[in-house]
Amino acid sequence: MKQYVVDIADLGSERLHVGGVFPAGSLDLGQPGAEQAGDVSWSAFIERQRTRVRLVGELHGTLGLACVRCLEPTQLAVSRQFDLFFEQHDELMYEEDEEIELDEPDMQTAFLAGTELNLADVITEQLILSLPMKPLCRNDCKGLCAECGHNLNVAPCDCTVPVVHPAFDVLVELKNRMERG
Ligand SMILES: [Zn+2]
Ligand SMILES: [Zn+2]
Repeated sequence: MKQYVVDIADLGSERLHVGGVFPAGSLDLGQPGAEQAGDVSWSAFIERQRTRVRLVGELHGTLGLACVRCLEPTQLAVSRQFDLFFEQHDELMYEEDEEIELDEPDMQTAFLAGTELNLADVITEQLILSLPMKPLCRNDCKGLCAECGHNLNVAPCDCTVPVVHPAFDVLVELKNRMERG
């Protein structure tokens, strides 16, 4: 993935357009049960803004996930736009008596250890941020039976309705009476 590394020290005042396609499975999401199931296409531009660089773009792709209810593999189309700032972490750039500017919130700025920005890592991170908290194979997924583990989307099982058996109630009552003497 070396071809996706941009050295931000090389950036001039011109916008640099970047983009491409990551073939299915080429990005490791590092998340259990989640994978890059289809190609991810992306495009963006990078521009220098004083000490920072700004990366603005979008991605489109397909993720593979396990449904939280029935655990079956399911695919999810994702589209995401991003607008990110990067800055080289360099303490020498800050004078101690310099006023810290508060008009620009710094929440979005990621600090780089050097001058290299790996766009494959950025796209991977954006895909991870696209992952839903509770992926479902379909909105009305019936899930698994808590008793027998049967997939209720396929067919109902015999234990789907919790039944308190009347005969059992009678036995409990009988037992209670005997214990009371
Ligand atoms: Zn499901
Ligand atoms: Zn069951």
